[in-house]
This record gives sequence, C-alpha cells and structure tokens, in this order.
Amino acid sequence: MSTSSSWDGQKLSFFDSISPAKTSVSVSTAFGRELQRKMPAANKRQKLHSPNPSITEDSPSTCNPFPHHPNPTPQECRGVRDSLLAFHGFPQQFAKYQKKPHSSSEACDEVSDQPKNGETELLVTSLGDRRESVLDGLISTLLSQNTTDSNSSKAFVSLKSTFPTWEDVLAADSKCVENAIRCGGLAATKASCIKTILKSLLEKKGKICLEYLRDMSVNEIKDELCSFKGIGPKTVACVLMFHLQQDDFPVDTHVFRIAKAMGWVPVGADREKAYHHLNRRIPNELKFDLNCLLVTHGKACKKCSRVASGPSNTCPVTQYYSSTTN
Ligand SMILES: [Zn+2]
Repeated sequence: MSTSSSWDGQKLSFFDSISPAKTSVSVSTAFGRELQRKMPAANKRQKLHSPNPSITEDSPSTCNPFPHHPNPTPQECRGVRDSLLAFHGFPQQFAKYQKKPHSSSEACDEVSDQPKNGETELLVTSLGDRRESVLDGLISTLLSQNTTDSNSSKAFVSLKSTFPTWEDVLAADSKCVENAIRCGGLAATKASCIKTILKSLLEKKGKICLEYLRDMSVNEIKDELCSFKGIGPKTVACVLMFHLQQDDFPVDTHVFRIAKAMGWVPVGADREKAYHHLNRRIPNELKFDLNCLLVTHGKACKKCSRVASGPSNTCPVTQYYSSTTN
C-alpha cells in the first residue's frame, strides 16, 4: 500500500493488486514468487521503514522522487475527484472504509466474539456499519493478491467460516488452512504467510489482534506491519487507507495507469516512485475518495482500462489526459 533497493525488488508483485479486498484483474504468479522470496528476507524489507534517519521513508530518494514534477496540483486532484464522483457516485463497496470514530477496545471484543461455523458470512456481510477488525483487513488484503475480487472474497469467507477464531487458524494443520482459501489462489504461500503472522502476533503481543495499530502513527504502523514476514508495502498501504483510515494513497495497477496517462507522474516512473510522489502531491483529505474512485473507474472504463469490456462509454477522465503521455 513501500530504500530504493527493497522497493525495486517488490514493486511488481506488491503493487499489482490493491483494494480492501481484491481488485487485481491481472493474475500472475509473481506475487507467489516474490512472497516466497521475501519471507526469509525480513531484514531487507525492514530497511524500508528503519528508524535509521538515513533510510527512512522521508529519504528524498524514496519519498520525494520527483521534486520538480508539478503535477498533480490540488486543483487537479479535486477536479478529477469531482468528475469521477459525478460520473460514478461514491462506490458503495468502499463506503464502510470511510473515516468514522472507532473504539479499539470494541474492535478487539468484536474479534473475540467470533461467530460459529456457518454464521461467518452473515457476520461478514452484516459488518455494514461495524468496522472490520484490522487483522481481518490485513488477511483479506493478503488474500486479494493476484486473484479476482470475487475469488478473494470467497476465500476470506471460507476461511472465516471454516475457522471460528484466528486462534483456530493458528492451531490448524496448514493443509486445512490451504484448503479453506484455495479458491483465492496461491493457497500454500498465502496460508503459510497467514499462519506466520498469527504466530508472530501471539508471540509478540500475547494475543492475536492488531487493533493496537489504531493508536500508532503512520510510520509506526508501517514499521510494525513490515516486521511481519510476507507483508509488503502495497499491503501496508491498503491496510493504512482502508482499515486504519489513515491518509495514505495506495497505487494499484489502475491508479498507476490513469495517473501516468494524466501526467501526474513523469514518463518512465515506476510504481514505487509513483506511490511516493502521489502521496506527496495529493492532499490528504482527497486521498481516500480519489483512490476509491480511480480504482472503480479503472476497472469499469473501457477507455481507461485494457481489460474492461462492453460498449465504449463517455469517460470523465480522458479530458485530464496529458498530451505528452496520451
Ligand atoms: Zn475512463
């Protein structure tokens, strides 16, 4: 959701698919390979958010990669947000992730108050106004990697209905966890990653709960999440924006493509640098709406997407496309 060398090694897989639960339409095995490569490489990843001032996120080489690139301006961000909002309305699937007051103790209680088998889907679909736990958000984001929205949703519901509590997941045989999430793809890799996170949480915190992140700063949250094996910067950005209501702007394949077309990032920019640049340029108060709208539009618009099908529609974004990049 991210030192230069670490990002370079992760960008393709960890920015491929971004959403609170599953946006990727380009399925590949890159995530699996990267995840497996990353898991024994925690030290490398931790450099991303090291407290060492020389390699923090504020390092000019990472956080401000294009200091002289003037776009987007706040006005451009607002214009695109307003155009997309008028065109699509606010995408309701993201409504539950909007900022609202939340009690961390309440959420921990929610996590411990797990449903019985068969009731999970009801809980999941009835969450409506009830905020998902941060841990649910992290796992659902992890399951969304390199698969479709539909399959990752099914995998998450299957996991939650097979195992009433996260403690049950940790205690279960790995094969059983794999079977529960198989429909989401890369089951063995994802199951291993999930169990590693749960085990690490239990060992470090004494309970399997991530609600404590709600009381941390963005940089503290990044440090904390990146300390878990298998969690990359794209996943972190998604958890920050969708599940912790922090002002972060993940760059998924749709956002990246449209941002490049609008000249919001220089020609040749990679997704890592785009993430840092856009997070610098986009006003915090616009990040959530703009991100949700760009993801929604990128998936739906034939003109803005290489994969959407159907009749060509009127696109509210192409008017912003840069003549030098379009
Ligand atoms: Zn479009």
